[in-house]
Amino acid sequence: MGIYDFYRRPLSDGASVPESIAMAEPEIAISTSQPELGDGMSPRKATAVAAPVEENIFEVIALKPEQSVSDPVKALKIIREDLGDCTRCALHKQGRKQVVFGVGNPKADLMFVGEGPGADEDAQGEPFVGRAGQLLNNMIKAMGISREQVYIANIVKCRPPGNRTPEREECETCSPFLMRQIAVIKPKVVVALGAVAAKTLLAMSASMMQLRGRFYDFKPAGVRSNDPNWDGCKLAVTYHPAFLLRDPRQKGEAWKDLQMVMRELGLKAPKTNT
Ligand code: SF4
Repeated sequence: MGIYDFYRRPLSDGASVPESIAMAEPEIAISTSQPELGDGMSPRKATAVAAPVEENIFEVIALKPEQSVSDPVKALKIIREDLGDCTRCALHKQGRKQVVFGVGNPKADLMFVGEGPGADEDAQGEPFVGRAGQLLNNMIKAMGISREQVYIANIVKCRPPGNRTPEREECETCSPFLMRQIAVIKPKVVVALGAVAAKTLLAMSASMMQLRGRFYDFKPAGVRSNDPNWDGCKLAVTYHPAFLLRDPRQKGEAWKDLQMVMRELGLKAPKTNT
């Protein structure tokens, strides 16, 4: 069976997870240490209790050069040129090969945001191209869309050495560029993949168990879109695909998160032959 074959495997609660997500993944060594389940917490069930961060009325909204540009392709190019051969945080001198900006549809309704590039991403200059990327592709396909229809980026754009979790300061230094990308793309939904992405985007600290299972109203911090009709979007949190490779038992939970996103976007999973 190929990796894109699609049939459904029943879960214990009667739901089903697409086979493209559920298929057993070979064991791989991923050193990214994401505390996906929080402090010893078991996988959550439903009621999320985390409150969304309140808008900071004192936040300074700086005018960005791309805000006068209506074409999102050109606007993203301006942000990329602004980033340049970035040396703004310590990650620039810790073995990165290149800055991994982001990839996908500049007018995407759906954005995925991960933690940071790994070795494959650093080598190819594109986010989510390794084994975790293959699983993300399968997750996107299971939602009835393709990788080309979404936009994919990370909180930090340079590979942390040994795939360590990026430091808070690195996230805070790099994420303003991601915020600008989001303001240009103007998605309807952002999916934060893993705890680092969720905590950075939402500016809140909570376990994955608390963060998942609900939508947050999200506006990219420190920047406004040039479209007065776009006043932010929804944000959902799910597990990072690298974590799902390490603990495939959580794939069913991740699929529930994606189904919530699909309902919001009016997406339907592809029909199966079984
Ligand atoms: S991670 Fe971001 S802020 Fe740090 S050097 Fe790379 S591009 Fe610059």
